Amino acid sequence: MYQIYALKYGERQTTTCNFFFRETSHEPLTLHFFVWLILGGPHPVLVDTGFTEQDAAQRGIANFVSPAAMVERLGVKADEVPVALISHLHWDHWAGHSLFPKAEFWIQQEEIAFWTGPVARYDAYKTFASPPSLAALVRMNYANRVRAVQGECPVLPGLRVHWLGGHTAGLQIVTVETAKGPVVLTSDAAHFYRNVERYQPSQLFTSLPQMLQGFDTIHALAGDRTRIVAGHDPEVADRFKVISPGVVQIA
Ligand SMILES: [Zn+2]
Repeated sequence: MYQIYALKYGERQTTTCNFFFRETSHEPLTLHFFVWLILGGPHPVLVDTGFTEQDAAQRGIANFVSPAAMVERLGVKADEVPVALISHLHWDHWAGHSLFPKAEFWIQQEEIAFWTGPVARYDAYKTFASPPSLAALVRMNYANRVRAVQGECPVLPGLRVHWLGGHTAGLQIVTVETAKGPVVLTSDAAHFYRNVERYQPSQLFTSLPQMLQGFDTIHALAGDRTRIVAGHDPEVADRFKVISPGVVQIA
Protein backbone atom coordinates (compact mmCIF):
# COMPACT_ATOMS: atom_id res chain seq x y z
CA MET A 1 0.00 0.00 0.00
CA TYR A 2 1.15 3.48 -0.80
CA GLN A 3 1.54 6.56 1.39
CA ILE A 4 0.94 9.96 -0.15
CA TYR A 5 2.21 13.35 0.98
CA ALA A 6 1.22 16.80 -0.30
CA LEU A 7 4.24 19.07 0.05
CA LYS A 8 3.48 22.79 0.08
CA TYR A 9 6.35 24.87 -1.25
CA GLY A 10 4.87 28.37 -1.80
CA GLU A 11 1.77 30.53 -1.93
CA ARG A 12 0.25 33.47 -3.77
CA GLN A 13 -2.65 35.83 -3.13
CA THR A 14 -5.23 36.52 -5.83
CA THR A 15 -8.99 37.21 -6.00
CA THR A 16 -11.90 34.96 -6.91
CA CYS A 17 -12.71 37.05 -10.03
CA ASN A 18 -9.21 36.35 -11.31
CA PHE A 19 -9.69 32.68 -10.90
CA PHE A 20 -13.19 31.22 -11.32
CA PHE A 21 -15.04 31.23 -14.65
CA ARG A 22 -17.51 34.18 -14.88
CA GLU A 23 -17.02 35.03 -11.20
CA THR A 24 -17.45 38.77 -10.42
CA SER A 25 -16.58 38.92 -6.71
CA HIS A 26 -13.25 40.41 -5.62
CA GLU A 27 -12.96 38.21 -2.54
CA PRO A 28 -9.36 37.36 -1.65
CA LEU A 29 -8.19 33.90 -2.60
CA THR A 30 -4.97 32.16 -1.52
CA LEU A 31 -3.32 29.62 -3.77
CA HIS A 32 -0.99 27.06 -2.24
CA PHE A 33 1.62 25.39 -4.45
CA PHE A 34 2.26 21.68 -3.97
CA VAL A 35 4.20 18.72 -5.25
CA TRP A 36 3.08 15.27 -4.16
CA LEU A 37 5.26 12.36 -3.11
CA ILE A 38 4.11 8.73 -3.22
CA LEU A 39 6.03 6.27 -1.04
CA GLY A 40 5.56 2.57 -0.28
CA GLY A 41 6.27 1.20 -3.76
CA PRO A 42 9.56 -0.13 -5.14
CA HIS A 43 10.78 3.47 -5.48
CA PRO A 44 9.45 6.95 -4.71
CA VAL A 45 7.17 8.55 -7.29
CA LEU A 46 6.91 12.33 -7.47
CA VAL A 47 3.93 14.15 -8.96
CA ASP A 48 4.96 17.45 -10.59
CA THR A 49 8.21 19.33 -10.02
CA GLY A 50 7.12 22.77 -8.84
CA PHE A 51 9.51 25.57 -9.77
CA THR A 52 12.86 27.09 -8.81
CA GLU A 53 13.75 29.95 -6.48
CA GLN A 54 14.33 32.17 -9.52
CA ASP A 55 10.80 31.49 -10.82
CA ALA A 56 9.41 32.20 -7.34
CA ALA A 57 11.15 35.60 -7.26
CA GLN A 58 10.05 36.50 -10.81
CA ARG A 59 6.41 35.53 -10.24
CA GLY A 60 5.97 36.97 -6.74
CA ILE A 61 5.54 33.73 -4.81
CA ALA A 62 5.57 34.01 -1.00
CA ASN A 63 7.03 31.54 1.52
CA PHE A 64 8.93 29.60 -1.12
CA VAL A 65 10.80 26.47 -0.07
CA SER A 66 12.49 24.46 -2.81
CA PRO A 67 10.41 21.39 -3.77
CA ALA A 68 13.72 19.45 -3.61
CA ALA A 69 14.09 20.45 0.07
CA MET A 70 10.47 19.47 0.76
CA VAL A 71 11.01 16.00 -0.74
CA GLU A 72 14.20 15.61 1.33
CA ARG A 73 12.21 16.29 4.52
CA LEU A 74 10.61 12.89 3.91
CA GLY A 75 14.00 11.20 3.60
CA VAL A 76 14.07 11.06 -0.21
CA LYS A 77 17.04 12.64 -2.00
CA ALA A 78 15.84 14.84 -4.86
CA ASP A 79 18.61 13.59 -7.13
CA GLU A 80 17.52 10.00 -6.53
CA VAL A 81 13.86 10.38 -7.56
CA PRO A 82 13.57 8.03 -10.56
CA VAL A 83 10.04 8.86 -11.79
CA ALA A 84 8.06 12.09 -11.86
CA LEU A 85 4.50 12.14 -13.23
CA ILE A 86 3.83 15.56 -14.73
CA SER A 87 0.19 16.60 -14.52
CA HIS A 88 0.70 19.32 -17.14
CA LEU A 89 3.35 21.70 -18.43
CA HIS A 90 2.31 24.98 -16.83
CA TRP A 91 5.35 26.72 -15.32
CA ASP A 92 4.35 26.01 -11.71
CA HIS A 93 4.27 22.25 -12.35
CA TRP A 94 7.16 21.86 -14.75
CA ALA A 95 9.76 24.63 -14.30
CA GLY A 96 11.35 22.73 -11.39
CA HIS A 97 12.41 19.72 -13.52
CA SER A 98 16.13 20.55 -12.97
CA LEU A 99 15.68 19.93 -9.22
CA PHE A 100 15.18 16.22 -10.04
CA PRO A 101 18.09 15.46 -12.38
CA LYS A 102 17.69 11.66 -12.48
CA ALA A 103 13.93 11.55 -12.99
CA GLU A 104 12.14 10.17 -16.01
CA PHE A 105 9.19 12.49 -16.69
CA TRP A 106 5.84 10.93 -17.64
CA ILE A 107 3.77 13.39 -19.65
CA GLN A 108 0.72 12.99 -21.87
CA GLN A 109 1.62 13.10 -25.55
CA GLU A 110 -1.09 15.70 -26.19
CA GLU A 111 0.44 17.98 -23.56
CA ILE A 112 3.87 17.80 -25.16
CA ALA A 113 2.34 18.48 -28.58
CA PHE A 114 0.41 21.51 -27.33
CA TRP A 115 3.32 23.31 -25.65
CA THR A 116 5.77 22.60 -28.47
CA GLY A 117 3.15 23.32 -31.16
CA PRO A 118 1.64 26.35 -32.92
CA VAL A 119 -1.01 27.49 -30.39
CA ALA A 120 0.97 27.96 -27.16
CA ARG A 121 2.50 31.24 -28.38
CA TYR A 122 -0.76 33.19 -27.96
CA ASP A 123 -0.83 35.41 -24.87
CA ALA A 124 -3.79 33.55 -23.38
CA TYR A 125 -1.56 30.50 -23.03
CA LYS A 126 2.02 31.68 -23.01
CA THR A 127 1.66 33.47 -19.65
CA PHE A 128 1.59 29.98 -18.14
CA ALA A 129 4.58 28.67 -20.06
CA SER A 130 8.22 28.65 -19.04
CA PRO A 131 9.92 28.65 -22.47
CA PRO A 132 13.37 27.63 -21.12
CA SER A 133 11.77 24.65 -19.37
CA LEU A 134 9.89 23.68 -22.53
CA ALA A 135 13.11 23.90 -24.55
CA ALA A 136 14.69 21.65 -21.90
CA LEU A 137 11.81 19.21 -22.38
CA VAL A 138 12.75 18.80 -26.03
CA ARG A 139 16.40 18.21 -25.12
CA MET A 140 15.46 15.72 -22.38
CA ASN A 141 13.29 13.85 -24.85
CA TYR A 142 16.39 13.23 -27.00
CA ALA A 143 18.20 12.10 -23.83
CA ASN A 144 15.43 9.50 -23.25
CA ARG A 145 14.22 11.17 -20.05
CA VAL A 146 10.65 11.77 -21.24
CA ARG A 147 8.00 9.07 -21.38
CA ALA A 148 5.09 10.20 -23.53
CA VAL A 149 1.90 8.47 -22.42
CA GLN A 150 -1.60 8.44 -23.85
CA GLY A 151 -4.92 8.23 -22.03
CA GLU A 152 -4.97 5.95 -18.99
CA CYS A 153 -1.64 4.32 -18.19
CA PRO A 154 -0.32 2.13 -15.33
CA VAL A 155 2.80 3.40 -13.56
CA LEU A 156 3.13 0.72 -10.85
CA PRO A 157 0.55 -1.76 -9.51
CA GLY A 158 -2.25 0.36 -7.98
CA LEU A 159 -0.83 3.62 -9.35
CA ARG A 160 -2.06 5.07 -12.63
CA VAL A 161 -2.25 8.28 -14.62
CA HIS A 162 -5.43 9.27 -16.48
CA TRP A 163 -5.78 11.88 -19.23
CA LEU A 164 -8.51 14.46 -18.53
CA GLY A 165 -7.63 17.51 -20.62
CA GLY A 166 -9.76 20.57 -19.85
CA HIS A 167 -7.40 22.88 -17.97
CA THR A 168 -4.69 22.07 -20.53
CA ALA A 169 -4.77 19.88 -23.65
CA GLY A 170 -3.06 16.91 -22.06
CA LEU A 171 -3.68 17.38 -18.34
CA GLN A 172 -3.45 14.09 -16.46
CA ILE A 173 -4.45 13.14 -12.93
CA VAL A 174 -3.04 10.38 -10.71
CA THR A 175 -4.89 7.63 -8.82
CA VAL A 176 -3.25 5.74 -5.98
CA GLU A 177 -4.50 2.70 -4.05
CA THR A 178 -4.10 3.35 -0.32
CA ALA A 179 -5.28 1.86 2.97
CA LYS A 180 -8.30 4.20 2.83
CA GLY A 181 -9.19 3.38 -0.77
CA PRO A 182 -8.36 5.05 -4.08
CA VAL A 183 -6.99 8.58 -3.70
CA VAL A 184 -7.17 10.99 -6.64
CA LEU A 185 -4.49 13.66 -7.01
CA THR A 186 -6.30 16.10 -9.28
CA SER A 187 -3.56 18.71 -9.67
CA ASP A 188 -5.14 21.52 -11.72
CA ALA A 189 -8.13 19.49 -12.90
CA ALA A 190 -9.51 20.91 -9.61
CA HIS A 191 -7.36 23.75 -8.26
CA PHE A 192 -9.89 24.14 -5.42
CA TYR A 193 -12.55 21.91 -3.86
CA ARG A 194 -15.03 24.52 -5.07
CA ASN A 195 -14.21 23.51 -8.66
CA VAL A 196 -14.86 19.79 -8.35
CA GLU A 197 -17.57 19.86 -5.66
CA ARG A 198 -19.69 22.71 -7.07
CA TYR A 199 -18.75 22.12 -10.71
CA GLN A 200 -17.47 25.68 -10.93
CA PRO A 201 -14.77 25.79 -13.62
CA SER A 202 -11.62 27.83 -13.33
CA GLN A 203 -11.20 30.41 -16.08
CA LEU A 204 -8.02 28.77 -17.34
CA PHE A 205 -8.78 26.07 -19.88
CA THR A 206 -8.22 24.71 -23.36
CA SER A 207 -11.61 22.92 -23.27
CA LEU A 208 -14.47 23.80 -20.96
CA PRO A 209 -16.48 20.63 -21.82
CA GLN A 210 -13.44 18.48 -20.95
CA MET A 211 -13.00 20.34 -17.68
CA LEU A 212 -16.64 19.72 -16.68
CA GLN A 213 -16.54 16.06 -17.68
CA GLY A 214 -13.25 15.80 -15.82
CA PHE A 215 -15.08 16.61 -12.58
CA ASP A 216 -17.31 13.56 -13.21
CA THR A 217 -14.24 11.40 -13.84
CA ILE A 218 -12.58 12.57 -10.61
CA HIS A 219 -15.68 11.67 -8.58
CA ALA A 220 -15.99 8.30 -10.30
CA LEU A 221 -12.34 7.39 -9.72
CA ALA A 222 -12.29 8.52 -6.06
CA GLY A 223 -15.64 6.92 -5.18
CA ASP A 224 -15.86 9.28 -2.22
CA ARG A 225 -15.10 12.99 -2.03
CA THR A 226 -12.91 12.52 1.05
CA ARG A 227 -10.33 10.87 -1.22
CA ILE A 228 -10.01 13.82 -3.62
CA VAL A 229 -6.91 15.98 -3.25
CA ALA A 230 -7.32 19.42 -4.87
CA GLY A 231 -4.33 20.98 -6.60
CA HIS A 232 -3.88 24.44 -5.06
CA ASP A 233 -6.37 24.56 -2.18
CA PRO A 234 -5.18 25.62 1.32
CA GLU A 235 -8.07 23.47 2.59
CA VAL A 236 -5.97 20.35 1.86
CA ALA A 237 -4.26 21.06 5.21
CA ASP A 238 -7.67 21.04 6.98
CA ARG A 239 -9.02 17.92 5.29
CA PHE A 240 -5.90 15.80 5.78
CA LYS A 241 -3.24 15.45 8.46
CA VAL A 242 -0.46 18.04 8.77
CA ILE A 243 2.56 16.20 10.15
CA SER A 244 5.10 19.04 9.99
CA PRO A 245 5.11 22.55 8.47
CA GLY A 246 4.15 22.23 4.80
CA VAL A 247 3.90 18.42 4.94
CA VAL A 248 0.38 17.00 4.69
CA GLN A 249 -0.15 13.25 4.95
CA ILE A 250 -2.97 12.28 2.59
CA ALA A 251 -2.94 8.51 3.21
ZN1 LIG B 1 -1.02 25.00 -11.12
